[in-house]
Amino acid sequence: MEPKSVLEKIKYCNSLTEYSRRKTIPVKVGDVVIGGDNPIVVQSMTTVDTMDTLGSVEQSIRMIESGCQLIRITAPSIKEAENLQNIKNELKKRGYNTPLVADIHFTPNAAEIAAKIVEKVRINPGNYADKKKFEVIEYTDESYQEELDRIRERFLPLVKICKEYGTAMRIGTNHGSLSDRIMSRYGDTPLGMVESALEFLRICEDENYHDIVISMKSSNTQVMVQAYRLLVQKLDEGGFKPYPLHLGVTEAGDGEDGRIKSAVGIGTLLEDGLGDTVRVSLTEDPEFEAPVAKSLVDRYVERKGHTPIEELHHFPITPFEHNKRDTIEVFNFGGSNVPRVIADISAVANITEKEMKNIGHFYLPELDKWKMNDQGADYVFSGDHPIPFMLPNGMKEIQYFNHWLHSEDQVNKFPAFTLPEFKIATNFHYGLNFLMLSDLEVYEALPFLEGRKDVVVILQSDNAHKMAALRRAFISLMENHCLAPVVVMVNYPVQDSDKTMLYAATDVGGLLVDGLGEGIMLGIGAYEGREREQILAQIKLHNSVGFGVLQAARTRMSKTEYISCPSCGRTLFDLQETTAMIRKRTDHLKGVKIGIMGCIVNGPGEMADADFGYVGSGKGKITLYKGKEVVKKSVPSERAVDELIEIIRKDGMWIEPEV
Ligand code: SF4
Repeated sequence: MEPKSVLEKIKYCNSLTEYSRRKTIPVKVGDVVIGGDNPIVVQSMTTVDTMDTLGSVEQSIRMIESGCQLIRITAPSIKEAENLQNIKNELKKRGYNTPLVADIHFTPNAAEIAAKIVEKVRINPGNYADKKKFEVIEYTDESYQEELDRIRERFLPLVKICKEYGTAMRIGTNHGSLSDRIMSRYGDTPLGMVESALEFLRICEDENYHDIVISMKSSNTQVMVQAYRLLVQKLDEGGFKPYPLHLGVTEAGDGEDGRIKSAVGIGTLLEDGLGDTVRVSLTEDPEFEAPVAKSLVDRYVERKGHTPIEELHHFPITPFEHNKRDTIEVFNFGGSNVPRVIADISAVANITEKEMKNIGHFYLPELDKWKMNDQGADYVFSGDHPIPFMLPNGMKEIQYFNHWLHSEDQVNKFPAFTLPEFKIATNFHYGLNFLMLSDLEVYEALPFLEGRKDVVVILQSDNAHKMAALRRAFISLMENHCLAPVVVMVNYPVQDSDKTMLYAATDVGGLLVDGLGEGIMLGIGAYEGREREQILAQIKLHNSVGFGVLQAARTRMSKTEYISCPSCGRTLFDLQETTAMIRKRTDHLKGVKIGIMGCIVNGPGEMADADFGYVGSGKGKITLYKGKEVVKKSVPSERAVDELIEIIRKDGMWIEPEV
């Protein structure tokens, strides 16, 4: 554990160098206990209409079978809240006792009914007692207090019911649906999110009600991570009990993007021992969510007892806001450059022009030309297998020093040194050299990096607590004023693609969120005995995951971002189908953020900082947004995607897709 001075400053976790779960109070939810010494609980939410009892039951069972330990069901009004009883009875009849959670927005009367039926209610402090009007109101201290009194009056009955019935509660703040009151006073900030929960928490504590779990979700991973950290700090400082945390990234999307985005947010916090229950929200059927959550959580079952990491003496990272580590610019690494992607193809001998498509560079033989997509790797690491043709599209090759030394082209190819080679080398590239370091070699390397303006470090670690070990190495560089850009390298074997996405997003994403890392390199580990095609498929995956992690950590936008809600019983259209349709027409709009939300009740708030929004406002009707502003109401769904494109076009953000 760190010396006290560091812990006092960084109160958001037990240790930044030794894996240790934050100690929380246990909260009983039926037969499941969240927090305390209990394993992290996996949960998810149904998407069928809550009034469809059998549909809800059958979907819940599929979710339970896939590993879900808590089932959340939306209760938008009294009738759905009442129907939770039928769903519960039917589940019981079929032998399932999995606790149910009612999801409440705007409707205290539904919450009060649900709290007598199910084991837990989730309320959103942004809309429990407030209707969002996107108004900025100036509050005096008195009028603010009046508002708090109004909330208390509205919220107290629910607290009393929960206490009486032994029902647990989640105070679930969403970045996108903060009340106008909170927005007016704290803005759209992590502090606003925390305060939003604390307003409700104080009321619960005053009533001596403590069966509470708290969440701070956002679709922006940086905001989400900062808000959870700040929450822990504020709970400790404010003398509140250490309530368990429910981790989640909202509107993460689907497929690879959804998995990576969820893992960057959730994984970063799990690494520091935060989190007692996890929900991964994907725009996919909910039974796909629990296995992803479980993969994330299972990494920590045996994390304790990892190789010790040097303790911290001070902590130069700002955990509650994003600041990039200061670096010098070396070629196009560091300084104000976006982080770079290095594709590791060193496992493939004699790679062909055609095979370069796996890293986003396409050879067109009929034209004898190269084309690059948005995910064309910036550099390629060939190791001991030099590339036997001229590289396209300005892409550069990195070779092991020994190969580079004998290369005919020592200008367009760059050497990668081990530390022993670097220490005695006399031959360097004139402007860009790579030094491959393990976290344990950083101190030894420091004197050799001093004054050098031509070196980029490729940093890796074999520690099982990898993210913390790499972070510690970054801190050593910072403490010693080393400004060399650093590319984070992690190796993954040819394995199940979900694991690669989730692990890379956690191991590297956690660093990027804290402003650490000027590049990413996902290496292929343990590929012996694998077919060339399998290795190439893994290289392809690594390349897109590399770009995906940078985007999810909001450090480099290389593709369109879809902020799509996971859907629930309120959803007014088929989200998966619609997301796929919108994606098909717009996925060439690099950096544009499009919100796709199933309902008008929560959608507009929750699409956060999307540039454009597609929101269900009635059966077959869509409302289209530019930012938070409604541009077209009640557009028939058959025309809505065309109209959306028209709005993007008028805003000047449309480009024609390449044929
Ligand atoms: S935005 Fe989506 S997930 Fe959220 S309440 Fe509406 S339909 Fe449900």
